[in-house]
Amino acid sequence: MTVQNVKCTVSNCAYWHNDVCRADAIEVNVQNGGRTSRTSKDTICETFKPR
Ligand code: SF4
Repeated sequence: MTVQNVKCTVSNCAYWHNDVCRADAIEVNVQNGGRTSRTSKDTICETFKPR
């Protein structure tokens, strides 16, 4: 079972396959802490794991 419909282009992540995330679940946080973000660029996928 993987997260459904998460497109991702981070091709060197261990969970990446053909622009789709294959992790069971992902965690996304605000880049520099806190719980609010102004733009998508301030967010970060914490589940990323380099190959
Ligand atoms: S874990 Fe994050 S960075 Fe890795 S493939 Fe999934 S969405 Fe992309």
